Amino acid sequence: MKYYDKLIFELSQPGRCGYSLPEWRWEATCEDIPLSLRRKDVARLPEVSEPDVVRHYTNLSNMNFGVDTGFYPLGSCTMKYNPKINEEIASMPGFACLHPLQPESTVQGALQLYHDLGRALSSITGMAEFTLNPFAGAHGELTGLMIMRQYHMQRGDLKRTRVIVPDSAHGTNPASAAVCGLEVVVVKSKPDGTIDTDELASLLDDTVAGIMMTNPNTLGLFEKEILKIAEMVHGCGGLLYYDGANFNPLLGKVRPGDMGFDILHLNLHKTFSTPHGGGGPGSGPVGVAARLVEYLPYPRVTFDGERYHLIGDNGKSAGRVSGFAGNFTVLLKAYAYILSLGKQNIRLAGALATLNANYIKESLKDCYKLPIDTLCKHEFVFDGLADKSTGVTTLDVAKRLLDYGFHAPTVYFPLLFHQSIMIEPTETESKETLDAFIAVMRKIAEEAVSEPDTLREAPHTTPVRRLDETTAAKNPVLTYFEM
Ligand SMILES: *Cc1c(COP(=O)(O)O)cnc(C)c1O
Repeated sequence: MKYYDKLIFELSQPGRCGYSLPEWRWEATCEDIPLSLRRKDVARLPEVSEPDVVRHYTNLSNMNFGVDTGFYPLGSCTMKYNPKINEEIASMPGFACLHPLQPESTVQGALQLYHDLGRALSSITGMAEFTLNPFAGAHGELTGLMIMRQYHMQRGDLKRTRVIVPDSAHGTNPASAAVCGLEVVVVKSKPDGTIDTDELASLLDDTVAGIMMTNPNTLGLFEKEILKIAEMVHGCGGLLYYDGANFNPLLGKVRPGDMGFDILHLNLHKTFSTPHGGGGPGSGPVGVAARLVEYLPYPRVTFDGERYHLIGDNGKSAGRVSGFAGNFTVLLKAYAYILSLGKQNIRLAGALATLNANYIKESLKDCYKLPIDTLCKHEFVFDGLADKSTGVTTLDVAKRLLDYGFHAPTVYFPLLFHQSIMIEPTETESKETLDAFIAVMRKIAEEAVSEPDTLREAPHTTPVRRLDETTAAKNPVLTYFEM
């Protein structure tokens, strides 16, 4: 029987104890604490022994699924293996014990790291300069759009309040534009999954602040007309924003700066060696073209040839987007990752991610519906099972994968298809892992015909079965005792 079959949460036994603390050694006594601040009832804490506690948390951790336990092909998320050496470096006391309010003269090494990481990201993306301040991808988007708005406002071009977003875009794109006070205009994709440039032309005028895109787009397809799109958008006075959250396929190969993009963000917590998910910690650096550098948020790190400095508002900046200068440990891991791969190997990451995605796509396209049958980049989208007669849905397939020990891909996104299954294998998976996944996906397609009810009731072997996902997300019970 597995631990969770019994769901042993009530381990407490009155009087049992897992610690021994020394006698009270301080001069202060309870009497020194004002009456109003003193606890009235004894704290209701579980009374358990040390081995009970250790086993409890170890067993709980085994109920979770992570990149370190198995294959996690979650599209648009880049759940790749993060080398442990980078965690070790980030936890070195010289880095981990820094304080953000230390005087500049005592943190020259940290400031150099900011500076050099910014330069490395500039050379990878083709942008002039970076801010490392934002804490997430969506935070980077908002920062980038604030820079875009600031650029137009500083030129007195106040009409530009519309942002064009393709219908295949990640949901954070229109959300960030709305939060920034800009109006979202959707441009449709053509049947081949790329932007319809005729429709784009009809949307362009002097009220357009810019366009938000990603390339390869959310379907994993390269927008071949990007140079033409850049010319069209620049021609009407707008800017091009690049959502670089999933930068894996481009690493060392192609640079958004060379495609004509003016502003971009990266997710260090996808592509550059910080695990993604669970709400953080993350980092969404924003890079800009030369003519936008003065609008970057502050503080910024500069180098005068001898010393590094944190500089404040220049009067034109889009403002402050974070308390200090960003999520330092995440930046550290990215820096260590980029330097340990080096120029040659960073190129391999994108090529292998692309090869792995195409390998899975070609191996499964006879039993899963491939709506756009072409070469993909790092990810691709199936529209459910090829055989729709069984009524088995994408959700059933995803849940059944859990029984076989794989994390499910992203489902029902992008919204272009009814039964989207978005698969992103990443470059860190071996051929054996990909083959095992392909075999299970084929087996599930067979089960859809031979035993569809098994799929409809899946998962069968996980700690919890099918959840009411809305309630789980909206009303999670996070406290031990009912309040
Ligand atoms: C993950 C992702 C984002 C958002 O990143 P967060 O750090 O979760 O805010 C934005 N765009 C794309 C394409 C993404 O995949």
